[in-house]
Amino acid sequence: MDTRSHERYADDPAARIAAQALRNCVHCGFCNATCPTYQELGDELDGPRGRIYLIKQVLEQGEADAATGRHLDRCLTCLNCMTTCPSGVNYAHLVEFGREAVERDVPRGWRERLLRAALKRALPAGWPFRLALGAGRLARPLLRGELRAKVPAALPAPPRPGRPAGGPVLQGGAVPFEHGRVLLLAGCVHDAIDARINAAFQRLMAARGIEVVQVSAARCCGAVEHHLSDTERTHARLRANLDAWAPALDRGVDAVVSTASGCGAMLRDYAHLLEGDDEYQERARELTALVRDPAELFDADTVTALGIEVADEDRRIAWHAPCTLQHGQGLAGRVEPLLRAAGCEVLPVAEGHLCCGSAGTYSITQPAMARQLRDRKLANLEAVAPARIVSANIGCLSHLQSGTERGVEHWLSLLDRHRREG
Ligand code: SF4
Ligand code: SF4
Repeated sequence: MDTRSHERYADDPAARIAAQALRNCVHCGFCNATCPTYQELGDELDGPRGRIYLIKQVLEQGEADAATGRHLDRCLTCLNCMTTCPSGVNYAHLVEFGREAVERDVPRGWRERLLRAALKRALPAGWPFRLALGAGRLARPLLRGELRAKVPAALPAPPRPGRPAGGPVLQGGAVPFEHGRVLLLAGCVHDAIDARINAAFQRLMAARGIEVVQVSAARCCGAVEHHLSDTERTHARLRANLDAWAPALDRGVDAVVSTASGCGAMLRDYAHLLEGDDEYQERARELTALVRDPAELFDADTVTALGIEVADEDRRIAWHAPCTLQHGQGLAGRVEPLLRAAGCEVLPVAEGHLCCGSAGTYSITQPAMARQLRDRKLANLEAVAPARIVSANIGCLSHLQSGTERGVEHWLSLLDRHRREG
């Protein structure tokens, strides 16, 4: 797709990257076939090809209009279109550029401004969210229907282990453990919603003799600010995180991990997002090279060696691969063999490539489409009558759980619950 950038973007690196991505698009429309919003709405402008056209206009005309804002807001950033595209178009870079232009050029109404400002402050800080969640849990018995479903029940977590005593490490997975240590990003709201997940990761790693290090000054990866296109805040958080992690990284870790695939995908983007930042670029590259999803730290032999065997009542599993795992990090098919090694029957689920509608802050900023996609996803997952629904991202887990009585659980929690200790 030929394009001539507006003079406004003459020295803009993001516009240069976007123009490069545009050149690869041959307008074939294959991507529309797997785009969830196109599937639901049937409007060309709510599919990737149409959105790419809108972004091209922004690049050529030098500004975004309200219609571009509306259609880009409806995009889940699930990146299903990138997996499908035969020409390797980097839609992620395009939508990033388009959304920044929308934030700059299109004024939002006061309600939206208030909501977005509250999300940017309450989620990364953690404590306002914990306070609100605590109040919601107290009121939960009095709530009914959709409102009650939105407040996740408190889930007791197993005890977290101390530091492993040293000695041999149980190797396995795609990472050779030389330091016997990994850095865990705890996440801004993860432990408040479901503290079992990080605890399970720590317990499984401790059982392998691997230390899990956490840095309390850097809990949030920056995805919330990034999703809401606040570039200044995003960059500030990324730099602060890199500063906070520097001592741990200098000491040596084998991997940097998040138990939420959404945060893992964000961590992998640090080098791209800080491109042109001379002071932080090198450190961002080092970090990005170390990022691994927990699924990459295990293999079938490790699961067996840890004595994990899922009991009969939990064996029938419907697996939901988060978009950030399969499209964002390119790790489709990595968790299922681990579940099978633990004795699970991983049931075939239709439309496994489609987003569940959670998508970071999307379920809050676009609640109607998020609910529509959640119900479509749950219909496919429930159709195979599983004992449990299993996934790998805190956002997907809580979004799906809000629409079903069936247990929805992180695969790490499932494996940890069924490990024979001793
Ligand atoms: S599949 Fe790729 S090349 Fe074809 S329209 Fe979509 S983004 Fe463009
Ligand atoms: S990121 Fe997802 S919702 Fe957005 S255009 Fe691509 S496939 Fe559609």
